[in-house]
Amino acid sequence: MSDEERKILPLQYVKGVGPRRAEVLASEGLVTPEDVLMYVPRGYVDRSAAPSISALLATFRKPNLWNSDAATITKVTAEVTLVAVVADVREQSYGKGRTMLLVVVSDGSGASATLIFWNMVAYYKRVLAHGQHVVISGAPDFDPRWNQITFHHPEIERVEEEDMEQYRAGAILPKYTITQGMRTAGLTLRMMRSIVEHVIDRTLDTMVDPLPEVYVRQHGFMDRSTALRELHFPSSLASVRSARERMKYEELFFFELMLAVRKRTQRVPELGVPMQAKSPHARALVDNLPFELTAAQRRVIHEITRDMTSGTPMNRLLQGDVGSGKTIVALLCMLCAVDNGYQALIMAPTEILAEQHFNSIKRLLQDTDLQCTQLVGGQRKALRTKVLAEIASGEANIIVGTHAMFESSVQYHKLGLAIIDEQHRFGVEQRAALRRLGCESNEGGKAPHLLVMSATPIPRTLSMTAYGDLDVSVIDELPKDRKPIVTKVVYESGLDSVHAFVREQVAEGRQAYIVYPLVERSEKLELKSAVEHFESLQRDVYPTLKMGLLHGQQLWYEKEDAMRDFLARKYDILVATTVVEVGIDVPNATVMLIENAERFGLSQLHQLRGRVGRGEHGSFCFLATKDHFKYQINRKNAAEDRAASIIRLKTMEETTDGFRIAEVDLALRGPGDVLGTRQSGLPDFVFTDLVSDTPMIARARQDAFALVDRDPHLRHPDLARTRAYLQRRYHNAHEYMRIA
Ligand code: ADP
Ligand code: MG
Repeated sequence: MSDEERKILPLQYVKGVGPRRAEVLASEGLVTPEDVLMYVPRGYVDRSAAPSISALLATFRKPNLWNSDAATITKVTAEVTLVAVVADVREQSYGKGRTMLLVVVSDGSGASATLIFWNMVAYYKRVLAHGQHVVISGAPDFDPRWNQITFHHPEIERVEEEDMEQYRAGAILPKYTITQGMRTAGLTLRMMRSIVEHVIDRTLDTMVDPLPEVYVRQHGFMDRSTALRELHFPSSLASVRSARERMKYEELFFFELMLAVRKRTQRVPELGVPMQAKSPHARALVDNLPFELTAAQRRVIHEITRDMTSGTPMNRLLQGDVGSGKTIVALLCMLCAVDNGYQALIMAPTEILAEQHFNSIKRLLQDTDLQCTQLVGGQRKALRTKVLAEIASGEANIIVGTHAMFESSVQYHKLGLAIIDEQHRFGVEQRAALRRLGCESNEGGKAPHLLVMSATPIPRTLSMTAYGDLDVSVIDELPKDRKPIVTKVVYESGLDSVHAFVREQVAEGRQAYIVYPLVERSEKLELKSAVEHFESLQRDVYPTLKMGLLHGQQLWYEKEDAMRDFLARKYDILVATTVVEVGIDVPNATVMLIENAERFGLSQLHQLRGRVGRGEHGSFCFLATKDHFKYQINRKNAAEDRAASIIRLKTMEETTDGFRIAEVDLALRGPGDVLGTRQSGLPDFVFTDLVSDTPMIARARQDAFALVDRDPHLRHPDLARTRAYLQRRYHNAHEYMRIA
């Protein structure tokens, strides 16, 4: 840190801090008084709620000591906090030259508890001197043989005499996270408390509440300074809850307000391509489909065409689980654009998928006068020239392709609708590029309608928030004839029976996928590779079956050939990497065997499973994993990452509901990872849990959008503080403007 930067650290002037500690605080993200106010306690010590040791002991006592399991140690999972005094410190050796520290504490209630430390013995010995007051937090064990409560490595906090006075006066004191770096610099918990107290005393009286008063009153919230004071130095634990509610609302309200303002200002000036809903080609196609559209499909088509006829450009996200029938919805909307005299395009993330869309659209349009053209990266020069000419002249009504579609060499002819399939594979810049090309192709620079489709079902509140400026349509219903996919976790030693099952299915005329996580052999991860296993499977397991191979290292036409051949039933089994994850449709395939399934993410597993169950036959998904997982699958104390993979596998067995799976995924990984931090545009919320705070998100969003509806520029004098705070908080709003 330079001297210049050091000078501007305001916290250094707080009593007892100084420049060096201010620097340490800054490295923890605590630079301004506001940062300190937002350094939310991770818990509280409430002397009045802390049990006495004898009261705690009473909760453990068993009625019958002769009971056979009375000799076992009882484990309480709930954490308790005690306030006590160190009565005795003893070192005891165990094992080979090792010592542990036994610390006996008492609290005048007539009972004592023992704290046991195996590590950092010297440190604890120094800190826990005889007569020292301490606050102890941890989950105690109870040993009935000695009628003793023990804590193994509890969290320890020394309490000075002044603190004891506060405790005796019934105060509830905050606990803050103290990092190793802070501790080393002498920034103890006590010090942090006094820094926060100082900041509160200096700032709260002059603090203005940025929330519009009407909402504070309507929801019965505390004002901001009360909330912050209660958050740090609460008068009761109940008021901590109210304070948190208010702060949660505040951070959500301003985030949604930013989205609302942005949406409003973005929408107003742009002119979209005007269309009519009537589409003879779409009507004819619907009449000739071998199935009925689901109610959900009809509803989203209605929502989309309403946008397309509104005069402003559509900006819509279409969410629908794997197999919910998004493609036909996309095609019907494209036909509507075409019947209005415009071009329409659909962009897929891989050439295989583009090829499949192209083939199925061509088939569906074969009896019409419409032309469908394919534009992908790997085309030969002559073909590409021809394709580009067809697009530029408007001869091509519908264009299907990949990334190649937003290169600037492509000239569209009245592009009215651009659809992006599997949007999570595309960046926002690419969407913006498509839009720009569309504008250039239209009279008066009118913007094309934009529809992005996603099979990653994210909980609705999260999509409202993450894609705040997109409208969202959801296909929340699968076609009726779908048979549920039977899903089973299997272990590597039991794979033979799975292979036998695959043989049976093939004998009945069905096909199977076998998926591996990596292409190249990686010794480090000991993962099975598709290439290696393709060879050994063919040789040892399925010598009489026809097998194909598909992986990411192949050239695009090799992949296409493999897929096309599988679709044409030239193979019984397709061995593949996750390339098959996205969108490919082979209705005759009924078995999905995923090897090293513990390596895959939940949404990936769900997408992979979605490759089967697309036809009339019952389908099966096997998740193969290591044998030792069998013994861990019901144990809670497995290492955390292992626990997460176990939860993923179990979730897959339990449900095929994509939204349920997405919620579990979100809980396991957090929104940043689920959506991709770069794309999600979500700030780090301090108070909000995006998984569980659904009602609050909805409330804040409704209020913020209503406010902007009434007063788009927040010009009313009463909103001056709200507007100022919004600008301060989101001065870098462009960072949150990633979604085109
Ligand atoms: P996804 O939403 O995963 O992209 P697709 O659009 O590929 O799903 O549809 C999956 C399969 O379901 C396709 O074979 C499609 O023809 C079929 N399908 C779509 N809509 C219906 C429906 N309403 N009833 C029956 N089958 C349908
Ligand atoms: Mg699809």
